[in-house]
Amino acid sequence: MAITKANVLDFIHIFHDKMQEHRQALTDMDQAIGDGDHGINMSRGLKAVEEKLPTVEEKNIDDIFKAVGMTMVSTVGGASGPLYGTAFMKAGMVTKGKETLEAQDLVTIFDAAIEGIKTRGKSETGEKTMLDAIVPARDAYAKAIEAGKSITEALAAAEAAAWDGVEYTKTIIATKGRASYLGERSIGHQDPGATSITYLIQAAKEAGEKAGA
Ligand code: ADP
Ligand code: MG
Repeated sequence: MAITKANVLDFIHIFHDKMQEHRQALTDMDQAIGDGDHGINMSRGLKAVEEKLPTVEEKNIDDIFKAVGMTMVSTVGGASGPLYGTAFMKAGMVTKGKETLEAQDLVTIFDAAIEGIKTRGKSETGEKTMLDAIVPARDAYAKAIEAGKSITEALAAAEAAAWDGVEYTKTIIATKGRASYLGERSIGHQDPGATSITYLIQAAKEAGEKAGA
């Protein structure tokens, strides 16, 4: 079954809830290798998104993604704000004119979001960032869809791959963002941005489950 606008709105509400729920844990993670504000940034940004949604929910899916992106750029702050914001704005660009999203459209969205993060962050995988979770998640999702799985099953595979990515971030040195100032001392700590983006994928999976997609 395809994803509807209502499912997209659900996904954003669920992501909002997760960012409130994990605010302290994400902040503690960022305290260890950054400046201790990632949970604060994300919870503030998603609260602003949640307040913005009623004004755009009559619009199309692409407008909703763009509004989320613009709100995140202006309210999340830090390095992650423009990166998350760009990812959502790119998702808006590739879904223009779509009433519903099919399984393959989510691959297109993943690709656009990843390309946006890489360009904006001048980053690649292996640098202990959100890319280390979202890139393997994209690959696991695409592989599952090719194998004939449902959207929700594929998103569950994506989430599992993203958590593996989070584990992987513990083993590597940060070379981008504030954590890079720590050099070798960043080893052993999980990346907060990789963790928050894994919750985003978890939110998508839960919205898919609810939709029976
Ligand atoms: P700041 O580092 O400015 O305090 P946050 O704490 O909100 O911002 O976000 C930190 C997260 O942003 C990191 O854990 C990492 O995942 C992500 N990040 C930082 N710089 C980059 C980059 N250049 N490319 C991709 N992700 C990045
Ligand atoms: Mg920070």
